[in-house]
Amino acid sequence: MITPRPHVADLAAYALADLSVAPGVRLISLAQNESCVAPSPRAIEAAARAMADGALYPDPDWTGLRAAIAEVHGIDTAGILCGAGSMELISALIRTYAGPGDEVVSTAYAYALFRTAALASGASYKAADEDDLTVSVDNLLTNVGPKTRIVCVANPGNPTGSCLSRSELVRLRDGLPENVLLLIDEAYGEFANTEACFGLVDRGDTIVMRTFSKAYGLAGLRVGWGLFPPEVAGEVRKLMNPNNIAGPAQVAATAAMRDQPYMLAAVAEVSSRRDRFATTLREIGLDAQPSAANFTLIRFANATEAQSADMALRAKGILMRGMGGYGLPHCLRATIAGEDDMALATQVLTNWKEAHHEQ
Ligand SMILES: *Cc1c(COP(=O)(O)O)cnc(C)c1O
Repeated sequence: MITPRPHVADLAAYALADLSVAPGVRLISLAQNESCVAPSPRAIEAAARAMADGALYPDPDWTGLRAAIAEVHGIDTAGILCGAGSMELISALIRTYAGPGDEVVSTAYAYALFRTAALASGASYKAADEDDLTVSVDNLLTNVGPKTRIVCVANPGNPTGSCLSRSELVRLRDGLPENVLLLIDEAYGEFANTEACFGLVDRGDTIVMRTFSKAYGLAGLRVGWGLFPPEVAGEVRKLMNPNNIAGPAQVAATAAMRDQPYMLAAVAEVSSRRDRFATTLREIGLDAQPSAANFTLIRFANATEAQSADMALRAKGILMRGMGGYGLPHCLRATIAGEDDMALATQVLTNWKEAHHEQ
C-alpha cells in the first residue's frame, strides 16, 4: 500500500459547500460569499483582450497589478505578493513559517483555512475562545505560547461578520512576542468601516491580505494579494508557483483595482441590501448578526432549527452555508445576493418561522 505522509492522511478533505438542489429547481447559491455584482466592465474587457497573449506564460512579478494596488492604497510595491486567491498566500505563508513542533493560533470561529493550512504544514493549531462571536484580543494573547509562530485573524471575520477596530489589532500586535508573525486577513476589508491596517506591516512582523474575490466580484479569476514585510515576502515567494496567476486574471484585477468607483458602488449596494435583509429577519424574530462583510450569520435556537430552516430554503433552491464545520451548527451563513433572491429568502424564512410557531 502506498501511503501519504501521516499528517496528510489525518487531514479531512476540504469541506466545500453542498450546492445540490432537487432537479428542476433553480439554484440560488448564498453559500460561498461570492459577489452578486458582475465584475467591472473594464475588467471584463481587459481579460478578453489579454486572451490574445494566451500562448505566453504570465508575468511572474505581477508588475501592472502591483503598480495599481500600490497606487490605489498608497503603499510600496516592494512588499506586495499576489496569489491565486489569497488562499494561496495564506497557505504559503503558513508553510514558510510553521512546521512540525510549531503552532498556529487563531480563534474559535476563524476562517477554516487557517487551521487546514497549519495542519497541512505539519504544525499544530490552537483556537482561542471568542466573546459573543467576536475575536477577543485578551484570549488570543493568553493562548500564545513558546511554540507559537503565527497568529491569524480575519477582520472582518468569516463566518461571524464581526470586526475589531484598528486599535484593538494594534493592542494584539503590541502584546505578541516579536518572533510571532501576525496575519490580518482583510478579505472583506472593503466592506468594513474600520481603518485599514497596512501601516502595521512596516513593523516587520505583520502581514495584511486582501482579495479580488469579494468586493471586486472576481472570485472566478483567483486573485488575492498581501502586503508583507519585504524579507518575509522574499521567503514566502519561494514556495509559490512562479506563474501563479493567469494573464487575463492579472489584467482583469488591474483594471478592477483602477475602477474604484465601480467597486465602491458594488460594496454600497451589497451592504445596504445586507442591512435591510438583517433588519427584516430581526422583525420576524430571527437572530441575524450584525455584519461588516457581504454575508449575514443567522443564529437559530439550536442545530435542529437551523437544519429545519435550511431544508425549507433548499426546497426553494436557496442554499445557505451550514456552519457545523465551524462549531456553529445552530447557525446558517447567508451571502447577500440580488434583490429578488434576497426577497425570496426572506419570504421562505418568514413562512418557515410562522409554520414553526404553530407547532
Ligand atoms: C473568501 C476568503 C478568503 C480568500 O479568498 P480567495 O478567493 O482565495 O482570495 C480569505 N479569507 C477569508 C476570511 C475569506 O472569507
